[in-house]
Parts: sequence; C-alpha cells; structure tokens
Amino acid sequence: MAKKQFKAESKKLLDMMINSIYTNKDIFLRELISNASDALDKLYYNSLSEDASGLSRADYKIQIELDKENRTLKISDNGCGMDAKELETNLGTIAKSGSLDFKSNADKEKDVEIIGQFGVGFYSAFMVSDEVTVESRPHGSSEAYCWKSSGVDGYTVTPCEKETAGTTVTLKIKENTENENYDKYLDPYTIKDIVSKYSDYIRYPIMMDMETSKLKEGTTDEYETVTEPTQLNSMVPLWRKNKNEITKEDYDNFYKSKFYDYEDPLLTIHSKTEGQISYDALLYIPQHASYDYYSKEFEKGLQLYSNGVLIMDKCADLLPDYFSFVKGLVDSADLTLNISRETLQQDHLLKVIAKNLEKKIKSELEKMLKNKREDYEKFYRAFGLQLKFGIYNGFGVHKDVLKDLVMFYSSSEKKLVTLGEYVSRMKEDQKTIYYACGETTDKIDMLPQADAVKAKGFEILYCTDDVDEFAIQMLREYNDKTFTNICADKLDLDTEEEKKALEDENKDSTELLDAIKTALDGKVSVVRFTNNLHEHPVCLTSEGMLSLEMEKVLNSMPNGNSMKAELALEINRNHPIAEKLKALFETDKDKLSKYAKILYAEACLISGKSIENPAEFSELVCELM
Ligand code: ADP
Repeated sequence: MAKKQFKAESKKLLDMMINSIYTNKDIFLRELISNASDALDKLYYNSLSEDASGLSRADYKIQIELDKENRTLKISDNGCGMDAKELETNLGTIAKSGSLDFKSNADKEKDVEIIGQFGVGFYSAFMVSDEVTVESRPHGSSEAYCWKSSGVDGYTVTPCEKETAGTTVTLKIKENTENENYDKYLDPYTIKDIVSKYSDYIRYPIMMDMETSKLKEGTTDEYETVTEPTQLNSMVPLWRKNKNEITKEDYDNFYKSKFYDYEDPLLTIHSKTEGQISYDALLYIPQHASYDYYSKEFEKGLQLYSNGVLIMDKCADLLPDYFSFVKGLVDSADLTLNISRETLQQDHLLKVIAKNLEKKIKSELEKMLKNKREDYEKFYRAFGLQLKFGIYNGFGVHKDVLKDLVMFYSSSEKKLVTLGEYVSRMKEDQKTIYYACGETTDKIDMLPQADAVKAKGFEILYCTDDVDEFAIQMLREYNDKTFTNICADKLDLDTEEEKKALEDENKDSTELLDAIKTALDGKVSVVRFTNNLHEHPVCLTSEGMLSLEMEKVLNSMPNGNSMKAELALEINRNHPIAEKLKALFETDKDKLSKYAKILYAEACLISGKSIENPAEFSELVCELM
C-alpha cells in the first residue's frame, strides 16, 4: 500500500507556535535581529566568493524604526535578501530554515556565525503583532517582493517597490489588552533594553534614532533635545577579545554594569577552552554577598550565550550549590538549543562545561589562598558558610572538593587557618585535630576543656557557625587525622601512668560518684574524675554522637525540641574540691548533695547551657556562704 503523507494543519500549528513555544514575548526582537544578522552573514559569505553586493563589511547594519502613531516597529537589514520563491519557501513553510541549509553547505573555515536553525523564530513576531509585512530584494536584483500575513489566515506574496537591497520586516504592534502591555514595544527605551539584554553581541551595528539631550551650540549651560542615530549594541563581547587587549578596568566595569554591583569583583577568571567542546567563560567572585544571597529568593546560575546571543539569564546547571556565589557567563556555539532557543535540550556538554568550571573555580580559589591571603580571608568571610554547607550537604559527597578551602579560627594563631595548615603544625605526639564549638571565639576560649588542651600545647580550631560541627563530622578525617571535639569526645591527653591512676581513683570512688549522680536526679548519666581540667573544678561533656552544641542547634530549629545530649559531669581530680567532696561523703551526705547541685549548675553556665532552676541555685549558694 502506498504510504500517505501526514498533513499538518498549518493554521493550528502556527497558533501553537505563537502561543506555546515561548515563555517571554520580548524574545521576538531577538529572533528578528538574529535573522537580520544571519542575512548579513550570508551576504558576507557570498561576497567572499563572488563580489556581488558592492558593499564592504563596514556598511552592514541593522536598523530599527518605531512609529508610535501608526503602531509599527520596523527592522531592516541590508543583508542577502530573498526573492519571491525564497519568501514562499522560507516564510511560507513553518519549520523551514533557509539558514540551516545555508549552514550545512557553507565552508566551515570562513568567518560566519549563522544563528538560525529551526525555521520558527520568525513567527514569534505574531506574539506581539497582528500583521507582519516582509519586503525583500536580493542583492543584484532589481525586483522586490512583499510577503504579508496576519497570522492564521495565510499570506500573500506580491511585487513591490524597494529602493535598496535587503529585507525590511514591519510589525503592526497589537493594541494593549487587560493583561498585556504591547505599547512598550513602541517605546525606544524598552527596545534599547531588550536589545542590550539579548542581542548586545550581534556582530553588526543595530541602529535606532533616539532622543538625547545635548549642549546647545555656543552655550555652556543650555540643553536641547536632539534625535540622533544611536547604536544599541556593543557588538564585540568582552570575552571574545584577546586577553592581552583587556585591562583590569575593562573586566571590572563589565562586571559592575552587567551584574549590578557597586564594588569591583574580588577575582576575575577568564578562560577560553577549545577542543572536544569550545567555549569562553568569564567568571567573577564578588567581594561581598548580595543582600539576598543567604535567602530563599536567591537564584544561582551563569548567563549562557550561544554565538553571542543570550539563551538563558541564569543557567543553574553550570554551577554547583557550593560555588553559587560565582557570577558570570559562558558562551559556546556547540550547545544544542531547544526550539524556542530559551533553554537547552538535555545536554551532556553542559555537564562537561560545568565540571570544568568547578575545577577552574577551585584551583583559582586555591591560588588566591596561597598568594593573596588577605583577599582569600575576605572571600571566606563572605562565602565560607556556603563552602561548609557544601561539605555537609549530600552526605559529604563533595567534601574532597572543599576540604582544602575551608577555614576555622585557631587558638594559637588567633586567625583563620586551613586544615592543611593545622596539620602541618601538629606536634609529634599529637594524634588528632582538636576543635571546640560555641557561640563566639571568646566564649570557647574560656571553656575549661580548652584550658586543658592548650596547657598541653595543642592548637584548637574554634567553631562558631551552626553548621561547623556538622561539616566536621561529615569530613570524619583530614589527611588521615581524625577530629576530636574537646567537649564531647574522650580526650586522650594523659600518659599511661596518669591514665592508670585516674582509673583507680574512679574505681575507688564509685560510691561517692554514684551519690553525686543520684543527687543530680537524672540530669547526667555519668559522674567521674578527670585529669583533663587544668584550673577549672568541673565541666560537662557529652556522651555518644550528639554534642551539647548540636543539641543547641537542633533545638533551635522548628519542631526540634526533643533532642537531648547525654551528659557526663567531670570533676577535676587535681582540684581542692575533689578532696572536699570525698570528706563530705564521709561526714555530711546532705551537704554533699547541695555541693553536687552547685557544681552541676556551674558546669552548665561555663558550657553555655542555661540552668533549669536559677532560684534554687542562688539559694544554695547563699546557704553555703
Ligand atoms: P531560522 O532563523 O531558525 O532559520 P526563521 O523562522 O526565523 O527560522 O526564518 C526562516 C528563514 O527565513 C530563515 O532561515 C531565512 O532563510 C529566512 N529569513 C528570515 N528573515 C530573513 C531576513 N531578514 N533576510 C533574509 N532571509 C531571512
């Protein structure tokens, strides 16, 4: 049986095209300008082989004209133009791309960067206009033709007059509706904005007459409004220029105007990659976090260009969350765009680019850390939190990328240090990396445990952000060195004899220690003597996985009110209070229980935990005074 051809209902198809492909109406201008740019590229390409146009490349341009009264927007180019047949095939057939055919036949070596490929962009004009007219005259021909359509009811092609070769597309802009403002497409400032957003790097000048205020001739303070041809696009993308032609100021100004920052960036990364996939990337690390950076509203992402045309404003897939502070753009001609050219088709090339960028950002940060310490600390104060979240999130899968970039405040250096620096300073007999958690470095510094560890000559890392301890637990170790929370974990500071003596003492004092535990009525699960306190009489340590700091963090979250760290009350074996307690156990059990309560309250206060019954505590103290 003979196969039958599908018949496309072209009216429906057109309607679908116009109303469902695009999410953003402004795009129509990008599409028409891209077509004009393609037409100029084709003319240029052809003129390389057969000098037909008589134009030099400097004459090539795209002109926009607005007429508010007649509600028209015109886009003209002096590009290749179309004859009657081409108007029919290119504009009469949906999804026919003359540009794609051209590209497939063109010689790759020549400097053409054709943008079109799907054969649908032109129809986006109907999103904003009721009627579209295309007048066109090919170079070298004296005949011009006019294609006209008001959308779904078809089109006509008739001969017309056109003075110059090229194409003029005229849109009759729709009237405003309740939900949609179309008038804005007749406003020169809106048009200028749309052009600079989407078409700033089209390689031909895009001109429009604009009003500017100018000093009147012969005066020094009188201004007049004059209408002048104005170029709307900057044409050459900064990132396409040779690096040695770009000054720091160029980079900085570009950053500030493009990403709305008032300060210069802290670091600029400009990389050109060629090979399996070619792209240019221009990345910036800001000096400070934007006001919404740590809020839900923040959207990460880099701008994505294809051949200088903006495709996406925030392409999130290009940046991992932990580097979300990076601003910038990527330009590549190798990506497969989706039909509206507003997004990409699932693209593994994008993943390759993202992986490369991640490596690049990491190595640039490491370089800054090594060579520009002050800058790095500034960076870290602004974005370090994000790096620590990066370690914690995803059960630590990214910890290897980040472990050399994080910093903590050091007890001995009195400044931020990296884990690598800490380890390089570790003493010969030091087995582990000591850290402590608390609200501020001052408060941690006063912890009894910190005293003891410092007295032994060990450095301590102070964790003052909520996420710190969670991140460290996710790291588990750094270069084979484990971490020890000085308030939670067993501190192995003693020599073998000291350990033995302590063990004996705890065994001999079982009854005393039990009596203290009973007096505390379930508040602690163990009471024991310790060698780990330097000058303080007592401290609280946590048993098991949940530390006191984690208890605080978790309980401050909504619905988190049920977490309890299991606690041990540790008593300084070398403090006079130890002897006093032993004596009271023999003579006055009632007083012993009061002492126990006071010591527990003291330990709570020192570790930053609130005491449950302050009134009872102060009464007890007064009584004993
Ligand atoms: P695409 O640009 O993706 O090919 P369009 O629907 O925008 O698809 O355009 C269809 C075709 O019409 C183009 O491929 C091109 O051959 C032709 N065309 C559109 N605009 C112009 C123009 N200004 N000058 C010359 N040819 C044009």
